[in-house]
Amino acid sequence: NREWHLLSRPVGWPKPEDFALVEAEIRQPREGQVLVRNKYLSVDPYMRGRMSDAKSYVAPFELGKAMQGGAVGEVVASEAEGIAVGDHVLHFGGWREYATFDAQQAVKVDPEAAPLSAYLGVLGMTGLTAYAGLLRTGAFKEGDSVFVSGAAGAVGSQVGQIAKLKGASRVIGSAGSDEKVKLLVEEYGFDAAFNYKSGSVAGQLREAAPDGVDVYFDNVGGDHLEAALGQLNQDGRIAVCGMISVYNNTEPVPGPKNLARLIATRGRIQGFLVSDHYDLQPQFVQEVGPWVASGALKYRETVVEGIENNLEAFLGVLRGDNTGKMIVKL
Ligand code: NDP
Repeated sequence: NREWHLLSRPVGWPKPEDFALVEAEIRQPREGQVLVRNKYLSVDPYMRGRMSDAKSYVAPFELGKAMQGGAVGEVVASEAEGIAVGDHVLHFGGWREYATFDAQQAVKVDPEAAPLSAYLGVLGMTGLTAYAGLLRTGAFKEGDSVFVSGAAGAVGSQVGQIAKLKGASRVIGSAGSDEKVKLLVEEYGFDAAFNYKSGSVAGQLREAAPDGVDVYFDNVGGDHLEAALGQLNQDGRIAVCGMISVYNNTEPVPGPKNLARLIATRGRIQGFLVSDHYDLQPQFVQEVGPWVASGALKYRETVVEGIENNLEAFLGVLRGDNTGKMIVKL
């Protein structure tokens, strides 16, 4: 049984020396616990925040202990009522091959209903983030034009497609490569998309959204937020989901220069955390599940194999190696 430990808190981009893959004993479950053999691990941008000890909404990873993260695995021993050997569960004991924990922290999932990895992405945390952030925080309504950054990623690709399926007048996405841009338009049905690395974000957004933006779903921050403010329509809304462009910065970045635009537009900018929106989970599964099953909503996963590649997979998310949800398969 191998597990990843954080050895030191990264400054700037995380370095391999900040981590170690270590051998650890498998602990048998006590009363009320289960032992799970992990099959799929999630790596997510927010984990960068947990590597630092700055005050945040989630506790830092402890140095010298197994890191945590979303995971799906098979129960191999159970001392808990209602969970049997052979069941599959979604839980939080990622970054390791075997996990032992209280059964209350596990949610049973059905491998017949969807591929197991989907419970970490399109039908899981990132899917709900897209759904709640667009519909609740972004207060999306039919006829809105929507701009989403990080649009070829797990959250972003779902934001754009949900907006389309719910009657957006125009959906615009940005991503970091021409292949990703092509995917957005040709496969996910975005009306327009651009590569933020091949020109100014503001200029490219003005061209892609000549009639402005009613909802901007921000995954990136920085230039993207600045540009979206510049194109914001009357009563526009900005849902701040993430700001991946600053996660490895060592100094705070200045805020957008365009904030005054909120006055004339009566615009609103609001951050959100998916953890506050789990009440929407049943509605999300009911509405989005059939779209995924029918292929009306498409998704990709980038799958990296092997626990030894867990760290590289995580760094890959920060670099943009992934298209759709980054998954580690054990
Ligand atoms: P993604 O699958 O979108 O992967 C991250 C992507 O970010 C990369 O693929 C890369 O794509 C892009 N990226 C990296 N650096 C930059 C940069 N400097 N500028 C622009 N794009 C960059 O990850 P998720 O879908 O899991 O997460 C997307 C965002 O949502 C993140 O900001 C994350 O922190 C946030 N989030 C927030 C939650 C909440 O509760 N508020 C919950 C879940 C996620 P590219 O090739 O296009 O650069």
